Amino acid sequence: MGRRAYYDYFPPYISVADRKKEAKQVAAKLRKKGEKLSPVEIEGRSIAQTFWGKAWCKNLEQYSDYENRLPRGRSYARHGSVIDLKIGAGEVSGLVNGSSLYKVKITIKGVADAKWKHLVDQCSGQIDSLIELLQGKFSKSVMELITQQELGLFPNPKEIKLNCSCPDYADMCKHVASILYGVGARLDHEPEALFTLRQVNHMDLFATAEAMGGVDAAAPEVGDDLSELFGIDLAESSEEVSVPALEKKPVKKKVVRRSKRPTMAEKRKAKRRVA
Ligand SMILES: [Zn+2]
Repeated sequence: MGRRAYYDYFPPYISVADRKKEAKQVAAKLRKKGEKLSPVEIEGRSIAQTFWGKAWCKNLEQYSDYENRLPRGRSYARHGSVIDLKIGAGEVSGLVNGSSLYKVKITIKGVADAKWKHLVDQCSGQIDSLIELLQGKFSKSVMELITQQELGLFPNPKEIKLNCSCPDYADMCKHVASILYGVGARLDHEPEALFTLRQVNHMDLFATAEAMGGVDAAAPEVGDDLSELFGIDLAESSEEVSVPALEKKPVKKKVVRRSKRPTMAEKRKAKRRVA
């Protein structure tokens, strides 16, 4: 045990290329065993490129609880050590390849009903389309509403619970930090996952515009183009409820829907049934 702890705190130097290679080998082994992995792949120097990804990272970095501890996860995230990351309702789970393979679980509180209603009210009529919402292309005032510290959409440290299978996790280890950054990178491609994570329905943001004869008919069609736009299957990713990859017994998760309005995936399903 003592020897193991020593390696965790003073791991032997490994080059970036070797670290990437090793992470790929570990991932390949897990895939052979039937694990479905969603690795975080980052190109270039910055973790995130879009409004949603950048706003996620910026939100975390502004809290003094986190600012000193987060940087240790940055290079891990950038160098391919996050070999699995899944975003579900109120939960992020992942696998990080460090001096060993570590399992990270982060639970995040949903946005309280009253808070969400307030945000929806404030944004009402200001977001023109689903595509604009997911691309983060909206007015500065909407941006400020969404990113505001207490009443916005992004979680604060009081709402976030961190856990890692390594011995150092209490002090926000680099594995947890790399997963937090990994979420930012993931939101570049799956902005909808943020709404899933916070357990709110992004379609609520259009409710008022729709009541005024706005976007209802257009929304599902626009949705069909989104997969192409972001290069992923939004329906699948938004519905995905994460089950930690190495968990022995299946974890049952209850997805809380705060709105009766159908999600995009449900609308699609209904459409398929009709067709
Ligand atoms: Zn850890």
